Amino acid sequence: MERRVTLKSSHQIERMARAGRLVADVLDRMGDELAPGVTPADLDAIAESLIRGAGAVPSFVGVPGRLDDYRHSLCISIDDMVVHGIPGRKPISAGQIVSIDAGAIVDGWHGDAARTFVVGDVPAATSDLVEATRRAMMAGIAAAVPGNHLGDISGAIEDVALEAGYGIVRSFVGHGIGTEMHEEPQVTNFRGPSRGRKMDVGLCLAIEPMFTLGSHEVRVQSDGWTVVTADGSLAAHWEHTIAITPDGPRILTVNDRTPAWLLLEAPV
Ligand code: MG
Repeated sequence: MERRVTLKSSHQIERMARAGRLVADVLDRMGDELAPGVTPADLDAIAESLIRGAGAVPSFVGVPGRLDDYRHSLCISIDDMVVHGIPGRKPISAGQIVSIDAGAIVDGWHGDAARTFVVGDVPAATSDLVEATRRAMMAGIAAAVPGNHLGDISGAIEDVALEAGYGIVRSFVGHGIGTEMHEEPQVTNFRGPSRGRKMDVGLCLAIEPMFTLGSHEVRVQSDGWTVVTADGSLAAHWEHTIAITPDGPRILTVNDRTPAWLLLEAPV
């Protein structure tokens, strides 16, 4: 049985855009703060004060996990961590890739987005992975038009990974979003047996590909949260919250300062 999918009015989408702008502000600030020597815990503290200072609530706090509820505002996943990295006190080093996932609730509506940042110089193969994952997200977003099917998003994302030979993490997927952070439907980053449900105006989705330089297999570390690649290969993760409008996809997790290149589907 297919579970319920909620469609949002244009008024509700405007409210989600407020949450989305705050999330974009937080990720911008994280990009400014990221440097060798800063700790994930430092970044989390800054993000929490930004979110709470705006009168909002961090989406991730209190999410139930395998062992305990999540207690942080950000997930910070470094190198072979894929998602759900707990912000710790080990300083970040040059040469690492750092995925930062942020969520905020404004007046009951969620915004959810992630970027993978490169700290200092990394090999071309690493920056190519990060950039391809971003492009895959944008290709998926471009397919999010009324009348298309969910599987068209999945296929557009998968094609970018297949072309480059990257692993596509399968255990974690995109999702509907609204007054809950995780709503129906799921949005896989690979094709399924069918094109899936048709997308209507008002559907809001978090589209979030996770690619690896190796296998798609992942495991959860003993902390009950941190997801790492099983083979230790590097992983990248990008995410935007979008709304499907009559004019096509509208990215909600942006602000006035979001640079155009960040939203290009083509290589930059
Ligand atoms: Mg998400």
